[in-house]
Amino acid sequence: MGKLALHWKILIGMVAGIIFGIMASQLGWQEIVKDWIKPFGTIFINMLKLIAIPLILVSLIKGIVDLHDISKFKTMGIRTFVLYIATTVIAVSIGLIMVNIIKPGDSVSAETIQQLTIANGETMKEKIQTAAVSQPSGPLQFLVDMVPDNFFKAASVNTNMLQVIFFAIFFGIALLLVDKQIGKPVTDFFTGANEVIMKMVDMIMLMAPLAVFALLSALITEITNPDLFVALGWYVVTVLIGLVLMAGFYGLVVALYLKKSPVFFYKSIAPAQLLAFSTSSSAATLPVTMERVEEHLGVDKEVTSFVCPLGATVNMDGTSLYQAVAAVFICEAMHFDLSFSAQLSIIITATLASIGSAAVPGAGLIMLVVVLESLGLPAESMAIGLALIFAVDRPLDMCRTIINITGDCMVALVIGKSLGKLHTPKPKNLGDNYPEVA
Ligand code: ASP
Repeated sequence: MGKLALHWKILIGMVAGIIFGIMASQLGWQEIVKDWIKPFGTIFINMLKLIAIPLILVSLIKGIVDLHDISKFKTMGIRTFVLYIATTVIAVSIGLIMVNIIKPGDSVSAETIQQLTIANGETMKEKIQTAAVSQPSGPLQFLVDMVPDNFFKAASVNTNMLQVIFFAIFFGIALLLVDKQIGKPVTDFFTGANEVIMKMVDMIMLMAPLAVFALLSALITEITNPDLFVALGWYVVTVLIGLVLMAGFYGLVVALYLKKSPVFFYKSIAPAQLLAFSTSSSAATLPVTMERVEEHLGVDKEVTSFVCPLGATVNMDGTSLYQAVAAVFICEAMHFDLSFSAQLSIIITATLASIGSAAVPGAGLIMLVVVLESLGLPAESMAIGLALIFAVDRPLDMCRTIINITGDCMVALVIGKSLGKLHTPKPKNLGDNYPEVA
């Protein structure tokens, strides 16, 4: 077991967790799993989240200083932004094409709608309220929200990552501009702190196989009505096909632009993907995503530490694809006609909604409200529509989070290549070979 690669260990943990979860459900052990197994999964996620904010802060500042030149930062920033928007628009378009070909909404009977509405109605009212609170009050509100008025307040809430990123970039640029001699102790501090945090990631990852076992077995025992999953089969299939196509698109870019094998790409980031699946959170996965991109894909630190944290919060290809499919599906199921131009408008709203979604479980569903509202779906239909898809949201969230982080890895690789900032991967300091480096 000691020599087995990390992704295999995590995979074994996942499969064992699913099997154990099914067994536990049959045996009526739900309470035992909740009290004695789930906490280990929760501790693991908490530990990953614990280092997410310090990691973003330290690595972004270090990454910017390592660029040595403000114009390089500008080039990297513009390229990252353009690529993030481009991949998101491609994802939404794939989602729209798939949902129009498969038309999953047609297969939902009035009976299913009624059944699911009763099952999930109350929870949906809360979600719509949450979305209403998080909705911008003016066109520039998203810019205002990005700038914190108090650093400590921003750093104390994990969903405020964009504010921490703003501070880190601001600080990094200022550090780049001060006299090198004066800035040196500060730079040295962040270099050292970065190493320490990466070591913490290694240590946490030792727990990953066991933690995913706990997370998945708990999740399985919490599933209340598996029949609902079947009722929404075509919707689930549509989202999944879209996500697979998106994964294929990344592979194509890796093969054509980077001249690297897609197998190498996917093998290198597999532990991060498995973790994304198990935690449903790009933010919790971020420390591992960064480690894989830098150490295994060979992208230089200054690129990784800028592109990945930003991507975790703003680039969500899987989420935007899902939002496009879900929006059209709900409208179809509710017999709400969508014109071609309304469908096109989804490209813009789903892109913005995915940027606005926090990198935590279920955030995509909340921001879906924004997309549905912009389509003019009446509030009553919206509540029923959301209740309809709620039953299958968690498994889809797990899958779309994989694509969310894969997109970030692909963009980091492309930016790295375009700036000549790739190195031969040298996996060191890693969770999977921790005993050798310890
Ligand atoms: N869970 C997703 C993420 O963290 C966001 C979402 O689609 O709900 O990337």
